[in-house]
Amino acid sequence: MSEHAISVHNIYRSFGALKAVNGVSFDVPHGSVCGFVGANGAGKTTTMRILASLDYPSFGSAEICGINVIHHPEEARRLIGWMPDHFGNYDNMTVLEYLDFYARALGYKGAERRSRIEEVMDFTDLTELSDRLSNKLSKGLTQRLGLGRALLHDPQVLIMDEPAAGLDPKARVELKHLIRVLAEEGKTIFISSHILSELGEMCDSLLFINQGKIVHHGDAETLREGHEQSDAVYYDVKLAHQERTLEDWVVTTPHVELIETRKRGGRILLEQSSPESRAAILAKMVRDGLPVIEFHKEERNLEDAFIDILGNLEEGKEAIPSKAATPPPIPTSTETAV
Ligand code: ATP
Repeated sequence: MSEHAISVHNIYRSFGALKAVNGVSFDVPHGSVCGFVGANGAGKTTTMRILASLDYPSFGSAEICGINVIHHPEEARRLIGWMPDHFGNYDNMTVLEYLDFYARALGYKGAERRSRIEEVMDFTDLTELSDRLSNKLSKGLTQRLGLGRALLHDPQVLIMDEPAAGLDPKARVELKHLIRVLAEEGKTIFISSHILSELGEMCDSLLFINQGKIVHHGDAETLREGHEQSDAVYYDVKLAHQERTLEDWVVTTPHVELIETRKRGGRILLEQSSPESRAAILAKMVRDGLPVIEFHKEERNLEDAFIDILGNLEEGKEAIPSKAATPPPIPTSTETAV
């Protein structure tokens, strides 16, 4: 067995002067779920299309289970299930006819074809809908049909481009469940999204791409904890009324940053997390007349991590900084808090 299910070595892809993929390398272990994250236009689809042998890199190579997708695309395609972000459908074709059409195209015959179709309809819970018109399904059902189609030849590696885009919460939960089941069966899943929170819950690792370059590859926990290495913590603050706003208070308080304004309060970042400094902040809020009714620590979310990584890179620092020096203590009275 090859060492990795997916292995990408220094790929580049340009469209005219635009470097859509600019020296990308990464490996994905067998049986894991890897989330591919980046803003619109970051280079996700271009990378995925190269992996799916639908496009050639200008330079570099990519392997699926040890098979070079550029030199042996047909062999690689047997191992890949490709689910594009948009896929066409046909008029007047039922769910069963749709899957049957693709199973035939893949070369399945007779009883084997029927059994593959039954298996994927059962897995994607489409059996009851086999007579429904495939182009009249909801977005969630259409995605399940697309997943079924991608699984017909029982691929080792599933490449999914934004499969959760436009799905309602219930359909997202169902999709996440199916992805986890596939990973437990030993398949490797490479899935893109720009909604970080949904990827964090289901992925074993997250690969961040920005302007065609990989800026980070790690697990969601390490990313969330990244900021804690520098002692900073997020707090949610709720106020009884808005006579004095959190925004105004933060301006007069060093080592505290307002991250987000919320209904009656907001989310703040404290540069220090020791019990003494947190107590000092709360005491200062009360002393300064802020009507605090709630003050509690919040998990750092993946969006924070991504934004920090981009910010650090812009400043020429490490993507996730090593433990930072402890900032000076928080002032204990309003007079010193300028
Ligand atoms: P999105 O989330 O919007 O799909 P993405 O991360 O998948 O974005 P890509 O589709 O890979 O990004 O596009 C990367 C860049 O390459 C974009 O600036 C895009 O406009 C450009 N691009 C992609 N395909 C082509 C093409 N065939 N011709 C010209 N430019 C292209």
